[in-house]
Amino acid sequence: MYDVKGNLKQVLSHLPQGVRLVAISKYHPNEYITAAYEEGQRIFGESHEQELRGKHESLPKDIQWHFIGHLQTNKVKYIAPYVTMIEAVDSLKLLREIDKQAAKNGRVIDVLLELHIAEEETKYGLSPDALRELLAAGEWRSLQHVRICGLMMMASNVDDEEQIRSEFRLAHDLFDEVKADYFADAPSFCERSWGMSHDYQIAVQEGSTMVRIGTTIFGPRIY
Ligand SMILES: *Cc1c(COP(=O)(O)O)cnc(C)c1O
Repeated sequence: MYDVKGNLKQVLSHLPQGVRLVAISKYHPNEYITAAYEEGQRIFGESHEQELRGKHESLPKDIQWHFIGHLQTNKVKYIAPYVTMIEAVDSLKLLREIDKQAAKNGRVIDVLLELHIAEEETKYGLSPDALRELLAAGEWRSLQHVRICGLMMMASNVDDEEQIRSEFRLAHDLFDEVKADYFADAPSFCERSWGMSHDYQIAVQEGSTMVRIGTTIFGPRIY
């Protein structure tokens, strides 16, 4: 087995106080998660509903599961009973569905809004203007069973550190802007989820509060 425990310790030693680790365990077997769990790791991230369901059922119940992938509205009901955070919310429609399913389960579900800044073409994530529009429209305020806790983003998958850094900076600026405009009185709006295996040290320098690291801890994924 990959040296999960050693890798985890290594990563944790690079994280300053106040930055939390989401160990991204997608495509990795339960034994890898258990190894990290034995080292004290409790927050894990998954991106497929069925895989998450299986792992949630068979692993310790004090694991905090973050859903980090693109979530289809028809899958929300399956994770709503137990998921700790849904990190990649990029539409009002999804926000409404999370609210509805959270209400059914008598819960409030923490979410992050996903920004799309990276140069790659992808359907997912809100552009800076789309983020502003969603918040300005105001309907989110009436959703009593979701709590918007901050922003999440992925930087471009490039080698150019300055480009990556400038994308994290832009995300941080947007965080500060919407915090001031909409969440000044909401201490729970405090999370900046950025940084993955190849760029988390830059992310931490640029104010990440939550890094999502898979490969560096668990090794390459076998799809
Ligand atoms: C897979 C994934 C990660 C982890 O990527 P690594 O390069 O393995 O660290 C982080 N964030 C999201 C959204 C992912 O899908």
